Amino acid sequence: MKSLQQLTRQKALYGLPMARLRPSQVTPASRLWQRNFSATTSAAQLAGLDASKLTVAKTETPKELIPNKDLVFGKTFTDHMLSIEWTATEGWQTPRIVPYQNLSLDPSTCVLHYAFECFEGMKAYKDHTGGTRLFRPNKNMARLNKSSARIALPTFDGEELTKLIGEFVKLDNRFIPDARGYSLYLRPTMIGTQKTLGVGPPGSALLFVIASPVGPYYPTGFKAVSLEATDYAVRAWPGGVGDKKLGANYAPCIVPQLEAASRGFQQNLWLFGEEEYITEAGTMNLFVAIKNKETGQKELITAPLDGTILEGVTRDSVLELARERLQPQGWAISERKVRMPELQQAAEEGRLIEVFGAGTAAIVSPVRYISYRGNLVDCGLKKEEEAGEITLQMKNWIEAIQYGDESHPWSYEV
Ligand SMILES: *Cc1c(COP(=O)(O)O)cnc(C)c1O
Repeated sequence: MKSLQQLTRQKALYGLPMARLRPSQVTPASRLWQRNFSATTSAAQLAGLDASKLTVAKTETPKELIPNKDLVFGKTFTDHMLSIEWTATEGWQTPRIVPYQNLSLDPSTCVLHYAFECFEGMKAYKDHTGGTRLFRPNKNMARLNKSSARIALPTFDGEELTKLIGEFVKLDNRFIPDARGYSLYLRPTMIGTQKTLGVGPPGSALLFVIASPVGPYYPTGFKAVSLEATDYAVRAWPGGVGDKKLGANYAPCIVPQLEAASRGFQQNLWLFGEEEYITEAGTMNLFVAIKNKETGQKELITAPLDGTILEGVTRDSVLELARERLQPQGWAISERKVRMPELQQAAEEGRLIEVFGAGTAAIVSPVRYISYRGNLVDCGLKKEEEAGEITLQMKNWIEAIQYGDESHPWSYEV
C-alpha cells in the first residue's frame, strides 16, 4: 500500500479538485480523504448522519429481564443495538437498529492494531410519570466528536445521533428499571473498521450504541472510598490525549489501580508533574473543598481543563450548580491547580472540608483518606459519616434533574 505522503504527493501532482463538503462534515479524516482519495467519487457529496432514515429490525428472541438487585454494571445488555457505518467516500450510511449481536471484523481491522476507538458514557432515566430522559446528551455528543476527530475518525451531527439514541432507548424501554438510582447505561462507541495494517486515517468506521441496565453505584447509601496518590505513572500530559475518551487511555490505567488496590485503596489519584498537581481519581474528576487560611472563606476547587483531565459532564454540572447555588452562600468556586502538598497542609491544619470524585457512574463519590508519601491525608469526614455536606447536596441536586423531579434544561425527554 502507498503511504499517505506518497498519495498526497501523487494527488497534488494530478491537481485533483476537492469535493465539496458541508462544514459539519469536514473532519481531519474526511479532509484527508477528500484530498487524497476522492478522485473516483469526484461528485461525492458526503452524506451526513440522518436520523430520519432509521431502519429497525426487531429481535425475535427478546431477553428476560434481570431482577434489579442482580444487575451488575456493564454485564448484561438490552435486546437491540444502534449501528451506523461510515465510509470516507460516501459519508454516513443508513442508521440501523438491529438485534444485539457480535461484530464480525477482519483480523487486520485497524481498530485492533492501532486503537482507532473512542466512546462515551451516558444514561437514560425513568421519571415519575413513566417518561424517559437523558441528561445533557449534547455534551456527550460534542465530546465524542472531539475524541473522534482527534484520531482521524469521522464526526457527525450530534442532534441526529441524540434523536437516534432516543429511538433506541424507546424501543428497549422495558430494560430501564423504574427505581431511584437505577438507569440504562448507554455506550456510544466509534471504531475504525478499515482492513489494513497500514498506519493511516481509516477509510471506514462504525458508530454503534449498546445499552446496559445498571443499579445505583452505592446501593446501601454512600460509602466513602480511599485513594492512593500515584507518583510513579502519569495518565495524561499537556498536549496529549488524556482529555479525550479514547479507549487507548484506559488499559494503561489498570496496573496502577491494581497497585492501589493491593494496598487496600479503592482508586488511585493521578498526580501530575514535579509540583504534584491533583488531576483525577481513577476515572472520575476530583473536587476538594478547602477553607482559606487567611480569610476563612470556603472554596470548592477542581482542576482546570488544561489537557491533563477528562472534561467530565458531571464535573461541569457540579461547577455550574455550585456557581448558581453555593456561591450566593459565600463559597468561592474555582477551576485551578492544587498541589498535593497544599491539600496535605490544609488537612493538617483542619481546613480540608471534604473531597469527592465526580462522574456519570456514581454522580459523586466521597473520599475519606488519600495515601500520599506514606501518610494518610484525612479528607475531613467524621468517623460516623460516609459523605460530606456538599457531596450529599450535589447528588440530590443532580439526581433531581436526571430523574425529572425538577424541570431543568439539562434534562432531555425522549
Ligand atoms: C468519563 C470520565 C470522567 C467523567 O466524565 P463524566 O462525563 O462526568 O462521566 C472523568 N475522568 C475520566 C478519565 C473519564 O474517562
